[in-house]
Amino acid sequence: MKSKSKKFMALIVSVFMLAALLPATAVAADGDVYRFSDYDNDQKAFFEDLAKAQPGETFIYNTMQYINSEIASSVVPAGVTLDVTAIHTFSIRQGTLDNYGTIKVCGGYQGASFEINGLEPSDFPVFNNYGIFYIYENEYPRCIVVVRNGGTINNYGTFTNATNMNVMPDGTVNNHGTFINERDLRIGADSVVNNHYIFIQNGTFSFYSNGIFNDYTDPCFFGHQFIDSPIIEDYIAPTCIGDGFAPTVCSVCGIAGDGYEIPKLDHVPANRITVKEPTRTEKGEWEIYCLTCGNLLECGEIDELGITGVTTNIDCFATITETAKNSKVWEVTFTVTVTLIDEDGEIVGTEVVLYVIYLDGNNSNLSGVYSFDDDHDLAGYKLVYDIKGNGSNIKTFGIIQS
Ligand SMILES: [Zn+2]
Ligand SMILES: [Zn+2]
Repeated sequence: MKSKSKKFMALIVSVFMLAALLPATAVAADGDVYRFSDYDNDQKAFFEDLAKAQPGETFIYNTMQYINSEIASSVVPAGVTLDVTAIHTFSIRQGTLDNYGTIKVCGGYQGASFEINGLEPSDFPVFNNYGIFYIYENEYPRCIVVVRNGGTINNYGTFTNATNMNVMPDGTVNNHGTFINERDLRIGADSVVNNHYIFIQNGTFSFYSNGIFNDYTDPCFFGHQFIDSPIIEDYIAPTCIGDGFAPTVCSVCGIAGDGYEIPKLDHVPANRITVKEPTRTEKGEWEIYCLTCGNLLECGEIDELGITGVTTNIDCFATITETAKNSKVWEVTFTVTVTLIDEDGEIVGTEVVLYVIYLDGNNSNLSGVYSFDDDHDLAGYKLVYDIKGNGSNIKTFGIIQS
């Protein structure tokens, strides 16, 4: 423990601090609380006494000076509290600080930081936390935890960080205890964070350069890799009337996923079938069914047949009129009666059509065949005429099937 003279000084200053500055954190002046100001700002003496402290004692670093270098090579014994919340920067730059007690850092100064930050390339400062370490949450976004330049944090206890944390460049964090980081964690430039127990990251992860986060307890820390489950009992095949379901499982850790729906299949339409034949006056009906599920998919009407039967019988009557006396030009008028008969042989109607042609008797070669057709399906019939003498004697006239 410290010298008697310093103890006397400490008593004076403690009383002053109690009254003026930190009454809320002070306890009875029975030797349990030691303030840095009691040590005439002698960091080495402060940390030497800290290493020899007894359970229940509290050491308060109550100036805004830096702590760094050789001062950090020390021990916080079990049951002892080191309160460095008032300082600007708590930087471990050489050696080792082992905490078996409780350390509180970054009380609320803008830009306050806790650093494990090598001073020289050959320095590999280490902070081993076996006890309780926490960084106060505060309103200043610049407050930060920094692990860099060969620095290492090994946590075996509880490490609670309520501010941002940078592990880079060349920093290492090994967690074997409970590590709770409340804000953003940035890992970069040949730096690594290894978790072997419980790592709770409530802010974002950011990676730069070769930054790595290895989680040896939860290979799915950053998310599962879900694939289709091989358990076919849980699989529901889709049909054309219902969705299917595919269960999923993480290919890394085996945890079951939520699965996903498989959209139902298309129907397989059969050929269109006529369920009611149309008649000449009534519509018919058609339907299409699904070959798989048998459901009716589509239906519709078939137009009535109407009177469009087949022409099978033609009666022909011709009258011939001489157009001018001795002109030998005759107007021949045919009256053609078309009987419409349907496929069943039933007479469904008749139509009468007039055809008029002119025959020129001055033409020495009147014999021939006139063919005609129209929309009454007369294409298969031809007019045959045969005129002899002076034109008053029509011997043969009619229509024959070609
Ligand atoms: Zn997984
Ligand atoms: Zn179907």
